[in-house]
Amino acid sequence: PAETLDELVALCKRRGFIFQGSEIYGGLQGTYDYGPLGVELKNNLKQAWWRRNVYERDDMEGLDASVLTHRLVLYYSGHESTFADPMVDNRITKKRYRLDHLLKEQPEEVLGRLYRAMEVEEGALSLLVQAMMQSPERAGGAMTAAGVLDPASGEPGDWTPPRYFNMMFKTYVGPVEEEAALAYLRPETAQGIFINFKNVLDATSRKLPFGIAQIGKAFRNEITPRNFIFRVREFEQMEIEYFVRPGEDEYWHRYWVEERLKWWQEMGLSRENLVPYEQPPEELAHYAKATVDILYRFPHGLEELEGIANRTDFDLGSHTKDQEALGITAKVLRNEHSTQRLAYRDPETGKWFVPYVIEPSAGVDRGVLALLSEAFTREELPSGEERIVLKLKPQLAPIKAAVIPLARNRPEITEYAKRLKARLQALGLGRVLYEDTGNIGKAYRRHDEVGTPFAITVDYDTIGQSKDGTTKLKDTVTVRDRDTMEQIRLHVDELEAFLREKLRW
Ligand code: ATP
Repeated sequence: PAETLDELVALCKRRGFIFQGSEIYGGLQGTYDYGPLGVELKNNLKQAWWRRNVYERDDMEGLDASVLTHRLVLYYSGHESTFADPMVDNRITKKRYRLDHLLKEQPEEVLGRLYRAMEVEEGALSLLVQAMMQSPERAGGAMTAAGVLDPASGEPGDWTPPRYFNMMFKTYVGPVEEEAALAYLRPETAQGIFINFKNVLDATSRKLPFGIAQIGKAFRNEITPRNFIFRVREFEQMEIEYFVRPGEDEYWHRYWVEERLKWWQEMGLSRENLVPYEQPPEELAHYAKATVDILYRFPHGLEELEGIANRTDFDLGSHTKDQEALGITAKVLRNEHSTQRLAYRDPETGKWFVPYVIEPSAGVDRGVLALLSEAFTREELPSGEERIVLKLKPQLAPIKAAVIPLARNRPEITEYAKRLKARLQALGLGRVLYEDTGNIGKAYRRHDEVGTPFAITVDYDTIGQSKDGTTKLKDTVTVRDRDTMEQIRLHVDELEAFLREKLRW
């Protein structure tokens, strides 16, 4: 695996996986652009998720809801009032930080002084943050007195009291920028699923339990975007809302934690680098009955890759009409606008109730980062040379096979290679590349570095011009394996079966 984020960032830029957003104008912080290889890797990951969670199941439907979201959706979901992180400013450096991030990075003795100043038992950072938010004036002073360091300068700062900052991006729909036209870019894809619950149910006649899956962009005005594509302001999520009967929620919650852990391992992440973390009660969001985060050992630390929450009947309960009649258990805002009953009629008893929901919510970009990090391998060759190999699962690799003509100035060879590329491309297994840049050694190195599992070389034997004067090897090619670097010779008619087998899910 990668040891530092920097080596991944460098590889991503060099080979065309990921670039800084708006780079030519100095960059727009918290945005990244996926390049020729990044777009393939990301699409492959998303397709693998979709295949597993929609196509291979008989209890799931797909959805693609809009990014622009009605203000009331995010009012009733609670995002307008609570989707905020506490932040503090350093008055000296004018830098702004998320309070919990800033505290996490402090030396122990500094934190110790702060725990004592705020009269909080030492240990849980979340309790310290809570105490500081309850008494912001005291908190600002205590941080300065305790010597809380500015991560950028390494010097103690003069800290403002913490205050909340709502992370949603606002925009205006229509030509007039007025309050009534206010809308949001969605901060999560989940709300689009909840508000379409009845539409999907009516259209598909699903019975509980069933789920709705969605992949799409989400936007959060993070106070401190950082760690490459780990924390960004525009990202993608792969989310499932799985609707169950109250009482069966704990079973399904455990089920989904296991399911998701298994899936990430199938994607190539090793079990040792995946850590399920059960959130303690003081960390739980107000609507959640339980949350298990799947943490991954990223080069910058052990951090959240996916969260799996038991959200009870909070979401559908928040957006439904007839709230009083439905016996909602979660604490929800009184809804005076919804036109639909987001509930389920028990086919046996005829009674209406609001299903509970289990939400596995994964970040696509964090997934890509984890895959890249896990796959990144430095190897020393017998020659003493170093090679970098991206040991991605072949199914996820951006390029499945590179077809390389051994000689670029021999039309019989290059034309053969081009025809072969077209033939393999038509199999629909993903991107196949005709590769005639640089010499063969360079081509191999390049494809090792971007994770291409197979390099297929067309040579003189292929076109029936073997050195020994025979044509025994006509229409055969060499296939080089990325990981073992071993080469085998196959007839071109065998390639289809070979690739299908190797790239099968
Ligand atoms: P964090 O605590 O790291 O900010 P979160 O708990 O707020 O994350 P959720 O709201 O649970 O995140 O979102 C679900 C998933 O979406 C996360 O597990 C993560 O993979 C992804 N995600 C959330 N925020 C970002 C972001 N700013 N950049 C990239 N991915 C993100």
